[in-house]
Amino acid sequence: MVNAPGHGARDGATAPAPPNPSFAEPQQVLRWLHDVSDPEIPVLSVVDLGVVRDVAWEGDVCVVTITPTYSGCPAMQEIRRGIEQALHRQGVAKVRVDTRLAPPWTTDWMTERARQALRGYGIAPPAEQAVDVSGIAWRRMAPRVACPRCGSRDTSLVSGFGSTACKALYRCHACREPFDYFKPH
Ligand SMILES: [Zn+2]
Repeated sequence: MVNAPGHGARDGATAPAPPNPSFAEPQQVLRWLHDVSDPEIPVLSVVDLGVVRDVAWEGDVCVVTITPTYSGCPAMQEIRRGIEQALHRQGVAKVRVDTRLAPPWTTDWMTERARQALRGYGIAPPAEQAVDVSGIAWRRMAPRVACPRCGSRDTSLVSGFGSTACKALYRCHACREPFDYFKPH
């Protein structure tokens, strides 16, 4: 069947809610979870961040599996609470948040939308893929990071730790502004 123009383009705002939100499709649950933002970077949803790894139902319990970004990141507790609250708001009564530690989270799991959002927020997204080369420190200590404001690569590392342990502080020599860099991981 061909979707003729004018047909099928129903007003999205009036789309009916699923009859029983307690058993919503995992894809729908994922869309709801886009409302849960990273406490440290409010423009980033936990889905775009790549923290949400799986959504499944165990009986009437919605089980959301997350992989923490940085071990010991206190934001994870808030993310856990945010997921529970967001799903309760949608009428999902029972929610369990499981943590999966392996494989470890990597900045490679961030969506392109997440990288755009970071730039818009004044944070440089991870510049290089974090590839584990079996313990060999091949990564340069201070990669050339483009300034999220003006795009200049004439930047330098100020401090290995920015506003949080997940970030490094850089300064742009072109626009002279300091900025946070989301470290590859
Ligand atoms: Zn700049």
